[in-house]
Amino acid sequence: MKKNLYINTIGCQMNMYDSEQIATGLKALQYKMTPSIEKADLIIVNTCAIREKAEQKVFSFLGRLAGLKRKKPSLIIGVGGCVAQQEGAKILERVPYLDLVFGTNAIGRLPDIVKVIESKRCRIVDVEMSERIEELDFVKQGHDREKITAFVTIMQGCDNYCTYCVVPYVRGRETSRDPENIVQEIRCLVESGVREVTLLGQNVNSYGKKEGLCTFPELLRRISDTDGLLRLRFTTSHPKDLSEDLIFAFQGFEKLCNHMHLPIQSGSNRVLKSMNRKYTREIYLEKVDKLRQACPGISITSDIIVGFPGETKVDFEETLDLIKTVEFDGLFAFKYSDRPNAAAAQFANKISEQEKKERLQQVLDLQDHYTTKKNKGLEGSMQSVLVEGVSRKQNRMDKTSRHPDVQWTGRTTTNKIVNFNWSNGDIARNDMVPGQIVNVRILKAFSHSLWGEPVSPEPVPFDLRGDESYVA
Ligand code: SAM
Ligand code: SF4
Repeated sequence: MKKNLYINTIGCQMNMYDSEQIATGLKALQYKMTPSIEKADLIIVNTCAIREKAEQKVFSFLGRLAGLKRKKPSLIIGVGGCVAQQEGAKILERVPYLDLVFGTNAIGRLPDIVKVIESKRCRIVDVEMSERIEELDFVKQGHDREKITAFVTIMQGCDNYCTYCVVPYVRGRETSRDPENIVQEIRCLVESGVREVTLLGQNVNSYGKKEGLCTFPELLRRISDTDGLLRLRFTTSHPKDLSEDLIFAFQGFEKLCNHMHLPIQSGSNRVLKSMNRKYTREIYLEKVDKLRQACPGISITSDIIVGFPGETKVDFEETLDLIKTVEFDGLFAFKYSDRPNAAAAQFANKISEQEKKERLQQVLDLQDHYTTKKNKGLEGSMQSVLVEGVSRKQNRMDKTSRHPDVQWTGRTTTNKIVNFNWSNGDIARNDMVPGQIVNVRILKAFSHSLWGEPVSPEPVPFDLRGDESYVA
């Protein structure tokens, strides 16, 4: 009998990847994804513990499920991911109608756990951590998906112990996957229609070092050889480990996109030291220069934490100054929050909520200026865009609709969103399919996207999905 699975993913790309694995694994028990929470027989919340706010979101979502469980007692509710790993059995006490808590290393065991709950109606906690990565057979068989882009985790955990960060405690020690397994998974994804892959790890530059596997640039080379894969991205690169080899990989590998996410966290050397980041602003700026020399036009994005304990006004000014010096293409900025086990939770001189809020706003306003400036600089340029589908604004419209205003969306190699119409005057052309690369002239820049006019689509030079992938 078919059953319905609803997954709420809270958090980063790694959680999104894990949710896909969860859905693929549970197919063996006849679970099929549903967008309707009311129809679900199993609800999984895949959680994030990186900031206090993400954790609060988890409990407020769980609170909303009480009524559903009352109406449908057979409903199974589970919590997975970082909050599950961190809190374990305590979540069962806090949420009496919860059936299951499973940690970041328990995804492979999930189908068996759910089977036991279905038959015995018991409550289960599995937060066991393992030192090595368990390769999941169902992942190697490929995902049942329609998307053009996919995330692939290449390593788990982290050994860096930045003083604000919970990752080493909830994701465990840094461990890299075998390159062959990664390449095989990407081949399967490409066979199912994926054209762009983003490799995930907390510090991709240390990929394989502990295990004596290949280097990260070598892994990029092996993946680049995958026929049918058009684009390759990765995140995250820790500035202390960003190697010359990786910087030069941007020149050598055609499929590698011109984008580097390089979190700085703070522009003050004093704060960076207290964060245990192991680089200075000078080293960071030098690496940015090298990247721009090796790959002119590369887009550089970053993460910033404001209000780290002891961050003075002078420290904060240095962060603003660094943003002005680098002129990032985009920034993720966060208010510092204490995390369980992370060293900074015990640090003195905490910054008030109000001050953190004001500093965050200043960073966001400043970055807005540079994001708009960078986007404006692209007006009139020609960009090669990998088409992902109809734009979010229109995704209820059938993608085969002949309405001339159907908006298509995709990304530049620098990871900027581009929207465009694909029509012959008053009727939409019907030869657009997601997964093509189209040359688009940028007509107008907005703060978070670009609007353009397609010039001509380049036919995809292979045919893996039959007629669908071919564009004349
Ligand atoms: N591994 C990546 C690195 O080293 O930059 C970052 C991974 S972390 C999942 C994503 C971002 O969350 C961090 O770069 C940091 O800016 C932010 N973050 C982590 N812990 C935080 C905390 N306690 N408070 C606020 N932001 C935090
Ligand atoms: Fe957290 Fe630092 Fe590891 Fe990134 S490198 S995951 S910020 S401990």
